[in-house]
Amino acid sequence: MENDLVKFTKEMLSIESISSQGKDCSKITEACDLLCNYLSPIGFKCRHFPVNNGKIYTDSLYAKYGSGKKNIMFSGHVDVVPAGNIENWDSHPFSAEEKDGYIVARGVADMKGGVTCFAHAAKRFINDYKDFDGSISMMIAGDEEEPFIETTKEMCEILSKEGEVWDIALVGEPSNSYKIGDTIKNGRRGGVEVRIESFGTQGHDAYPHLADNAIHHLVELTNKYVNKKLDDGNKYFPSSSLQIINIDVDNKSTNTIPGFAKCLICIRFNNLQNVESIKKFFNEEIEKTEGNFKIDFNFFGEPFLTSSDNFYLQNLKGIIKTNTNINPELSTAGGTSDGRYIKDYCDVFEFGLVNDSIHKTNEKARVSDLILLEKIYYDFLVKSLI
Ligand SMILES: [Zn+2]
Repeated sequence: MENDLVKFTKEMLSIESISSQGKDCSKITEACDLLCNYLSPIGFKCRHFPVNNGKIYTDSLYAKYGSGKKNIMFSGHVDVVPAGNIENWDSHPFSAEEKDGYIVARGVADMKGGVTCFAHAAKRFINDYKDFDGSISMMIAGDEEEPFIETTKEMCEILSKEGEVWDIALVGEPSNSYKIGDTIKNGRRGGVEVRIESFGTQGHDAYPHLADNAIHHLVELTNKYVNKKLDDGNKYFPSSSLQIINIDVDNKSTNTIPGFAKCLICIRFNNLQNVESIKKFFNEEIEKTEGNFKIDFNFFGEPFLTSSDNFYLQNLKGIIKTNTNINPELSTAGGTSDGRYIKDYCDVFEFGLVNDSIHKTNEKARVSDLILLEKIYYDFLVKSLI
């Protein structure tokens, strides 16, 4: 007979809950409902947090068991990125087929597999320890991949105002690089998009004294940023990185000096930086560089770090060691996650499946990894609540 966890995971994977479907977010709701129907019979109270602002539609879910003071949160998302060209997949991305010990499906590693593992672990835990003193909660986003409308942030805000308190949040994002147990993410870098516009004077390239080349000014400025280091990183974070993503002139002419140029720069920054220091880094050079510039910052998350001696993090490390014989590395690498919103309410870290196939064609997860991850989550509940 098929393992109960595997069956539930395949059911979840068969729902095509792709992010940003415009008005139709019914598949995201269906994924939330499947989880709800799984958790309600064991006593979880589920509450949908739908989003409909006239432009963006999605759904999200908060599920909670118990009313004891100590509240352990699992966080995750049930939206997935599009499959890309289905022809390139070995099997249909939403048929969740098993092959050579793997389940191949869009979203199995990022991160419906994580969600089904913690739901299953909670169910087993509640069955085994009926009278435990505490609560288990699950915060499930429907917009983590896109369109970033911050459902997790909103759920945290609303629930917190209503008096909800969490002791720790374990985000089930795929944190491991090669093997279950190799990496716990105990922090994340912050991110910012910086848009710079350069204004000059358009003219004929044979009459340069009558024009002012906007590209020349922009290149001079961006070159300064590329050659100037933000920092060298520290014990917990790599150095902050700056990448020019795009320089755009839109000049179709072969003899016209452009009067306008713009660029996009992306920064991933560590906890040595903050909004003010990043702005200073950019504005200082603008003041010293000839040209007429306009700059805009779009910050999408500040860095956070959960201390390595956090009680729950220590618990998880010990459990991973017992189950895998690996001492997990604590890491802050990678992009942002919904942990960036939760960190304002409680300590947070991430541990889930292996991330080597996420967002790719033939995204996959080992069946044995799902079973192992579920066991680790179960042990984490026991150690944290009993
Ligand atoms: Zn994810």
